[in-house]
Amino acid sequence: MSEKKFALKGILVQTPEFDKIEFHENEYVVVVDGVSQGIFKTLPEEYKDIKVYDYSDQLIFPGMSDIHLHAPQYGFRGMGECVDNSLGWNSWFEHYCFPEEVKYKDMEYAKKAYNRFVNDIVKTTSTTRVAAFATIHREATEYLMQKMDEAGMAGYIGKLNMDRNSFHGYVETTEESIRETERWILETKDAFKNIKPIVTPRYTPSCTDEVMEAIGKLCVKYNVPTMSHLSEGIEEIEWVKQLKPEIEFYGQAYDMYGLLGSTVPCIQAHCIHCTDDEFEMLRNRNVTVAHCPASNMSGPNGVARVMDMVHAGIKVGLGTDMAGGPNLSIMRAMTDAMWASKMRWMFTKRDKDPHAKEDYLNMGKAFYLATMGGGQFFGKVGCFEKGYEFDAVVIDDSDLRDFNDRPAEDRFQRVIWQHHARTIEVKFVKGELIYDRDRDTLTY
Ligand SMILES: [Zn+2]
Repeated sequence: MSEKKFALKGILVQTPEFDKIEFHENEYVVVVDGVSQGIFKTLPEEYKDIKVYDYSDQLIFPGMSDIHLHAPQYGFRGMGECVDNSLGWNSWFEHYCFPEEVKYKDMEYAKKAYNRFVNDIVKTTSTTRVAAFATIHREATEYLMQKMDEAGMAGYIGKLNMDRNSFHGYVETTEESIRETERWILETKDAFKNIKPIVTPRYTPSCTDEVMEAIGKLCVKYNVPTMSHLSEGIEEIEWVKQLKPEIEFYGQAYDMYGLLGSTVPCIQAHCIHCTDDEFEMLRNRNVTVAHCPASNMSGPNGVARVMDMVHAGIKVGLGTDMAGGPNLSIMRAMTDAMWASKMRWMFTKRDKDPHAKEDYLNMGKAFYLATMGGGQFFGKVGCFEKGYEFDAVVIDDSDLRDFNDRPAEDRFQRVIWQHHARTIEVKFVKGELIYDRDRDTLTY
């Protein structure tokens, strides 16, 4: 097979390092067989005859990674709490979350809902890679994986495990949970081009020791990564300690079953109330933390210590935590993360010190988390440097402009704050063009 070569021309934005943002104005990124060959001011001689997609004067970003979301919760997005909240914050699970997820046992419903989800994540977001939870239902999970793969998206999707502490009949038996998980892994691990299984216990209170032990072994047996939720709420941590009195901190409840990065790659969402010992374990186990700022602030849980994680050498990416967060956009997650981080810094490290050293997420750092931070979970993903898989989105900010000639940096930050569903003009994943807004004939 002959090599597939092309180039994109435009304003290439990337953060190859944390807090090092680059703007390459009207330069070229060359792609060969899905892999970037680097950024060039002019096309090198050896590439002078290749196809060039000319997006001069348009911003082009590396594809972004949403490393924690719940696809079946998309239907009730924007309903982050019960308006009549007299039952307390946790009534959200009983009122919205579990009644919605249980519907996915009905394949007619699952197909409709997942088709809509796939359509919207492809066409309206800058996301090219996901690590997503589905529901406990194997068949619906496989359908979602198939549709995401057909759409050209890449990443991991998990059949959820939950054999205790649920509502509305949305629960598996222990035996069922283990059996269905193994069957699902076998049916999906080699079935799709870009979408692979990830083992996803909902969290410790939802899973018996038997399930945790069995799925930890399945991860190793089939070399499948894992994702769950860690230290999100203080009452949750208390509950976990009641369920597992032998542990010192929550992370050990996963680690004792190999579900914290000791055997296979691992994402843990939230990590808001991690102790320093837990941080140490996350770093030693090479766990990627999914920071979900909108979700942090929607629940009464506080905001994760993202800068402390970065300083501690822990890998961090961003998640929308749909529908714990209201919005499917990772660009929105960037701005949420910036605000959350700044508030946290102002109320803690800065306190009332007018000369305190700035230590919060700015635009460049947030862009790094959205691209490189999450992207590293998928391999060499998240920038246009040579050797990175080519994921990219071409941005149309024409309807956001004013009557001044703004430099690229200004247009960049404005589009991160002000983007909308039509901002994404073109999307590439692993070098494949998966969406072109102006030639959109895709129907899901
Ligand atoms: Zn979540």
